[in-house]
Amino acid sequence: DLRVRFAPSPTGMFHVGGARTALFNWALAEQSGGRFVLRVEDTDATRNRPEWTEGIISALDWIGINGTNPVFEGPYFQSAYEPQHREAVAKLLADGKAYFCDCTREALVARTGSEHKGYDGFCRDRGLTEGAVRFRTSDEGVTVVEDVIRGRVEFPNDAQEDFVIARTDGSPLYVLANAVDDITQGITHVIRGEEHLGNAAKQQLLWPALGANPPVWAHLPVIVNEQRKKLSKRRDKVALEDYRADGYLAEAMVNYLMLLGWGPGDDREIMPWAEMVPLFALADVNSASAFFDEKKLRAFNGEYIRALPVETFEERCSPYLEDDWDREMFSKVAALAQTRIAVLAEIRQNVDFLFLDEPVFDEASWDKAMKNSPVEILSGYLERLETVNWDPESLKEALEQVGAAHSLKLGKAQAPVRVAVTGRTVGLPLFESIEVLGRERTEERIRAALT
Ligand code: GLU
Repeated sequence: DLRVRFAPSPTGMFHVGGARTALFNWALAEQSGGRFVLRVEDTDATRNRPEWTEGIISALDWIGINGTNPVFEGPYFQSAYEPQHREAVAKLLADGKAYFCDCTREALVARTGSEHKGYDGFCRDRGLTEGAVRFRTSDEGVTVVEDVIRGRVEFPNDAQEDFVIARTDGSPLYVLANAVDDITQGITHVIRGEEHLGNAAKQQLLWPALGANPPVWAHLPVIVNEQRKKLSKRRDKVALEDYRADGYLAEAMVNYLMLLGWGPGDDREIMPWAEMVPLFALADVNSASAFFDEKKLRAFNGEYIRALPVETFEERCSPYLEDDWDREMFSKVAALAQTRIAVLAEIRQNVDFLFLDEPVFDEASWDKAMKNSPVEILSGYLERLETVNWDPESLKEALEQVGAAHSLKLGKAQAPVRVAVTGRTVGLPLFESIEVLGRERTEERIRAALT
């Protein structure tokens, strides 16, 4: 049975690239009724933090990867398995597949005459009983990693040094611990980022040395930004948590991430998880780098927002509104807002005028809107508001007429009214907004704008 794993290191905020890797694994496990193992690789005590582990678990949960699905197994913590890692090192030593080495960097450089040459095998047959532990590699032939996505990848053995698997203090290295855990946990498919391809060359050797058949390898393409540079936390918005906070919907995020390197094979892009799962295939993953297009993600999110039942939309918006903002009032404009925002956080700027005593003005919008006979328009409209029927159509006609009296089309005449009433130059449809705001408050705001 298929067993995959997701093995994040809790050394920072959870990255969208990690989420993509997790989802590809998850899709495969779900599709085949296999297992998805979550293994937290927390062996680097100097760089790990418990809050990052929690962040990973909660972000995975948010995108639907959690124990409510029987496919899920774990989390396991790599640090708990150090005894097994040490045992594996001891076994490799006993079998002659690894040896102790006490060469210093300086000694090696002095021997090879270069900073860049790999280890020269000096300690291979010295029979030392302490030091760092190196894995014995062959000097001839090639190591082949059969990768489902990249095909046959060859690593010439003369370029592969006898690599270190345990430090002088006995602590095992990542490349070893990762393979030992995969073997112990019965992993059949290792699906991870392309940056681990070099590790695969070593692990392709370690697995048989540890008595196991190597897994199916699949190294996912890197994710790049608009400048075609690898997505990085310094340059790009990469933390899943940040997207969540801005009001991206998990469904949209999942949908978008699944398309980074994979597609269903037709033109469809907006596609719910349940439809993607049966279609997903590692062999269809592209080896070329995948462009993380934030604009496209926004557009996806907008579509997912519009597809929500309006009551659900209201609920999802709630965290972005102040607690004391009247939800019944909000309900009156929710449907209007739903068609206009791309991320939930934008709800606030669209509706705050309804709840604040005074709208939030920014100077630039004010100056921009108050260009064409603003005083005449505002006072003319104020007068009409006394008697006009309080419905959007009548409110609009009244402003049209006031505008016409000053040779202004509706668009121009609307500008000062919109800013006076909502504080902004763009937003929800104006006359519906005025209707909901009510006669008294609208008049009050126009009066205030006139003084
Ligand atoms: N802990 C490794 C990482 O975060 C995982 C490597 C793997 O999946 O084998 O990159």
